[in-house]
Amino acid sequence: MAIKNIGFIGLGNMGGPMARNLLKAGYRVKAFDVLSSALGAVAAAGAVAASSAQAAASDVEAVVTMLPAGMQVREIFLGKNGVIAAAKKGTLLIDSSTIDVETARNVIDAATEAGMDMVDAPVSGGVAGAENAALTFMVGGTEAAFQRAKPILESMGKTIVHAGGPGNGQAAKICNNMILAVSMIVVSEAFILAERLHLDSQKLFEISSKASGQCWALTSYCPVPGPVPTSPANRDYRAGFTAEMMLKDLRLSQEASQKGGVATPLGAMATELYTLFVNSGNKKVDFSGIIKMLKGKAQD
Ligand code: NAD
Repeated sequence: MAIKNIGFIGLGNMGGPMARNLLKAGYRVKAFDVLSSALGAVAAAGAVAASSAQAAASDVEAVVTMLPAGMQVREIFLGKNGVIAAAKKGTLLIDSSTIDVETARNVIDAATEAGMDMVDAPVSGGVAGAENAALTFMVGGTEAAFQRAKPILESMGKTIVHAGGPGNGQAAKICNNMILAVSMIVVSEAFILAERLHLDSQKLFEISSKASGQCWALTSYCPVPGPVPTSPANRDYRAGFTAEMMLKDLRLSQEASQKGGVATPLGAMATELYTLFVNSGNKKVDFSGIIKMLKGKAQD
């Protein structure tokens, strides 16, 4: 049965533009967020404003969630008035939040028991990727669930990868973000060193973006103002992707490393540095703002 009606829960920096892209693709969207301003913005774009998560999940063929962390995902899916209790059998559930692998697998197990297909489908690409329907989705779940989810994900993203069974999307996401955090720190260090050496930041960008130092933190999200006009460095590090969210993902990577007995020393160092940055009053600052702390100029 073709999916036409989608419930969307969690309409923040990412969920808001993702829900708008579903509307643009012609889906009918029933949206919910605890924050009325977030809900209002998506309703203004044509979504039906639901009064609760339960209401958003009723009488739809699919539900997409984009929530802060595992705690909210458990509450929204497994709670007494949650999505699994409210949705009809056969509903397709897609959780795009970044959460721990264990919670993702528990929630998918509960959905499967209730007769629903569910995938974990965390994303990469940031707010710009969400706005431009250019996200990368890393999807965990059965082949059947993946195939059902794919057309919906294609309305919000460009690259959709089936990473394997339940929870494998989250596994891919925490590995990816560990790479991102470590590379953002070292790109920042390189620009600080270049400045001290009287090497112009634009010149370092021109060279490294075409040389072996090339990486996403440099070419798409450059932590100094100028070279990449869309990067948060050009708007005083307004998020974007907050330092607190990055720290959350790093902690997920470190929990998984410890559980699995795997050494990730640079991931551990990045976790320490982001803890320092967040604890010095920068929770809501974009994660690329860590360059200020590395320079010795953290914001309040
Ligand atoms: P956000 O804080 O802007 O949005 C989360 C939204 O969920 C908020 O609007 C909040 O009010 C809502 N919410 C919280 N609890 C709720 C509940 N119980 N019921 C209904 N709504 C509830 O966060 P975001 O930046 O949109 O990130 C969402 C997820 O996407 C996170 O897991 C994050 O790690 C991941 N992510 C974010 C980015 C990014 O660049 N911002 C990139 C990739 C992945």
